[in-house]
Amino acid sequence: MRKIILINILIFSFLFFYSCSKREKYENVILEQQEEEEPQLDSCVDYTSVNPDSLESYWELFVEDVKCSRGGPNYGEINKTVTLYFIVPTAETIASGVTVDHAGYSTYSGYCNSEAVNIGVIEDYWIDYTEVQKLWLMYHEFGHDVYRYRHSSDPKDIMYPSVARSDVKINDFIRAKEKFFKRDFEGIEYISCDQD
Ligand SMILES: [Zn+2]
Repeated sequence: MRKIILINILIFSFLFFYSCSKREKYENVILEQQEEEEPQLDSCVDYTSVNPDSLESYWELFVEDVKCSRGGPNYGEINKTVTLYFIVPTAETIASGVTVDHAGYSTYSGYCNSEAVNIGVIEDYWIDYTEVQKLWLMYHEFGHDVYRYRHSSDPKDIMYPSVARSDVKINDFIRAKEKFFKRDFEGIEYISCDQD
């Protein structure tokens, strides 16, 4: 009788471990598939050419990107005054409970003036951003300033109020940027200005 119980226990244990190791193998395959990087999508500019210390380099990249992927317009020529700066929110701003949904500010003097760009970036946020998040934020602000886009409700869009999470990939940015350039995303809306 004891022998039978022992054999049963052995068989059961074997089956248990066998199924576990099988599942582990299966899970590893899934993980490997997820980790496999998709090759970078084609783009006519080099997104690694920007210098994180120079917000102007993001402007230059954006201007080139519009020119080479859409054939223009040349926003570098249209915008005669380009003012990009790092800001440190004052203690008063913080105490007043002002919350920022992303690290950048587009100002009225930029988006309501088609010949000027005026954007502030909170440095404390900026330094913690990944390379792709920095691109995402600057294109978002250029979206307000140059295209006069309002926010979108889809997190996959550049105009979503919060910058994409830190694990966002360059291809997510490139895909979102294509739609952004083509003025082709869900619920697109424009900021209206006094002179309109
Ligand atoms: Zn915004």
